[in-house]
Amino acid sequence: MEIYGKKRALAALGRFAQSGRFPHALLLTGDSGIGKRVLADYTAMMYMCTGEGRKPCMRCNECRRTEQHIHPDVVYPLSVMEKGKYNADDLRSFIAGCYIKPNDGDIRVCVFEALDSMSVICQNTLLKFIEEPLDFNRYIFTADRKEPVLQTVLSRVTAVTVDACDEKEFAAALSGHGIDASRAEELFARFGGNIGAALKFEENGDDMQYYHAAVKACDALADKKELDCLLAVSSLKTREEVFAALGILTDIFAQAAAYKSGKGTAEKYMDRTKRIASAYSLAAITKMYDEALRLYGMSFTNPNVKLFAAECCGALFDAAESANRR
Ligand SMILES: [Zn+2]
Repeated sequence: MEIYGKKRALAALGRFAQSGRFPHALLLTGDSGIGKRVLADYTAMMYMCTGEGRKPCMRCNECRRTEQHIHPDVVYPLSVMEKGKYNADDLRSFIAGCYIKPNDGDIRVCVFEALDSMSVICQNTLLKFIEEPLDFNRYIFTADRKEPVLQTVLSRVTAVTVDACDEKEFAAALSGHGIDASRAEELFARFGGNIGAALKFEENGDDMQYYHAAVKACDALADKKELDCLLAVSSLKTREEVFAALGILTDIFAQAAAYKSGKGTAEKYMDRTKRIASAYSLAAITKMYDEALRLYGMSFTNPNVKLFAAECCGALFDAAESANRR
């Protein structure tokens, strides 16, 4: 198992392990593709490891089975949900199974991925489960963003931010996938140390409809052309695509706000970040960010994808204008 970057996250986990107070419930947050799943597996090993010395030892039977995803007591509920999405019925039956003692050892680790894609009903179901922790259960959650997660759930977990790697590590990781240094440099400019996102982009190329839709929508916002924005999002066909596109827009607005206020560099989506920063006031960008985040949290609750995508355009333009009027 290769772990690139994530220095701060690994240091935080190391401190928990050393102090002997490893939390019962951990939330790993960070952009899609940053390596939360790898870190979740690594953390699961820390819980399960029966080896000597530093944990995880990566050598004992528990570590090896966890790494290979064949440990019967390291469970991934999202993988057993119908259509790979959380729903209250499947979640309840999964939880019911967790009241039974683990198969092999003393500990069961439940890895709840994409906590931020869970509906409020599902999150409340989950809350009841983690509020009354059983001695043998540990919980690892992953989420791109904390905002869609209920405060009541957040108050029960210890959050660790998964950080991106630096340019050197990024290039090293990509060279392992046959990507040369100059291409790695370009990709770093676009994805800012997010190896997973860069690899996905390289693999899918032009199929990354949501990426193209998001940057076109962003250009339309910078040019203040609402019709172009509507055309850009009309290519989005699924909730997942809308969710991913809104995630990118949220990132761009967050970076543009930091860039505009002199607090950050525009290392990801460089051109777009700068365009938004020069087209709008800080107040307008902040409003657009808030609005994008709100819509992001609603991505999975809306029944009509096309209508929702169109509403997103309108809402973002309204947010920008309302700040400009003041
Ligand atoms: Zn081990």
